[in-house]
Amino acid sequence: MKTSFYQYNFKELTKILEENDLSVSGASLLFNWHYKQKNIEPCTHNLALATQEYLRENFNFELPIIIDVHESSDHTAKFLIQMSDGLKVETVLIPFQNKYTICLSTQVGCAMKCSFCFTGTQGLKRHLATHEIVGQFILADRWLKKQRPADHQLKNIVYMGQGEPLHNFDAVKTSIEIFLDQHGTSIGVQKITVSTAGYLPGLLRWNNEIPGVNIALSLHSSIEEKRNKLIPINQRYPLEEILKYLDLIPLKRKQYVIYEYLLIKNFNDSDFDAHATGELLKGKQAIINLIPFNPFPGTEYERPENIRVEAFQKILESYKLPALIRGTKGDDILAACGQLNTKI
Ligand code: SAH
Repeated sequence: MKTSFYQYNFKELTKILEENDLSVSGASLLFNWHYKQKNIEPCTHNLALATQEYLRENFNFELPIIIDVHESSDHTAKFLIQMSDGLKVETVLIPFQNKYTICLSTQVGCAMKCSFCFTGTQGLKRHLATHEIVGQFILADRWLKKQRPADHQLKNIVYMGQGEPLHNFDAVKTSIEIFLDQHGTSIGVQKITVSTAGYLPGLLRWNNEIPGVNIALSLHSSIEEKRNKLIPINQRYPLEEILKYLDLIPLKRKQYVIYEYLLIKNFNDSDFDAHATGELLKGKQAIINLIPFNPFPGTEYERPENIRVEAFQKILESYKLPALIRGTKGDDILAACGQLNTKI
């Protein structure tokens, strides 16, 4: 069976060429052709005929397909993307000034079953392969170039779509290596952020295997019992343990661990909760992203009033912790955080 071209990082591709007695310079030509120039048809330009033939016989260049696009009034675009086995995931392009951030999915559904998350209600169907993660980027980038050529700039990547990225570590890692590679898209290491619910086995591999990339923890409560209710894997990998490992991540100047804090009315949004979070994170190289809960069909949780969100922010700032309120984008098309669900 043919494997996808989009499955391999630069080193792996070079090795494949080498093992098949093909010129290794083909790897940089191919990365340039597919990732920098963003061509999707097989490369014929400057590439040795023997390599072209090898690729034709052993690789496929198929991509998932966009089957639906929802464009929000704030220019957020949500794509429904179908893989070759018919399963679907969502990818979101989020505008910021005239640049875009892409929010990638890493699994079909999710095994974490967080009580506030729409994706979690789906359960885990399967992991995405590297080429399906990379494919989301390529498809969205091509769409942007065609539909909005004036502001076609995709330079930030967040792994914050459907799924728990650290639960699908190998595929996520290779996709990051592809995005970072200087022969291809050459995305800056600090322009990539991976968000985790606190999946410890992945965190244990982080420092050695994905150095320099930003990490975000979905904190949501600093109180273990409350966090257990929101994020069930906290029972297995408690916050205290997770923080120990996060503290070991070497950070550059002006690099931070991002703590995402979902604010749910009358559950984790009190002054007491804010002080507990301030105490827990004070002194750390941390940024807190406050995310007012985004409702979805069937949820019992509610979003707090803005004034409560601002009060929470003020308390955190009194601990010298920068706390940003994440503006909700795309909520009119259910594209905001936690609203991605391919079942409906
Ligand atoms: N599994 C990873 C990646 C998903 S990121 C993680 O948990 O971090 C998606 C972000 O949106 C997470 O911070 C998640 O907690 C948040 N989120 C989930 N449901 C939400 C909702 N209904 N409203 C607002 N944010 C939500």
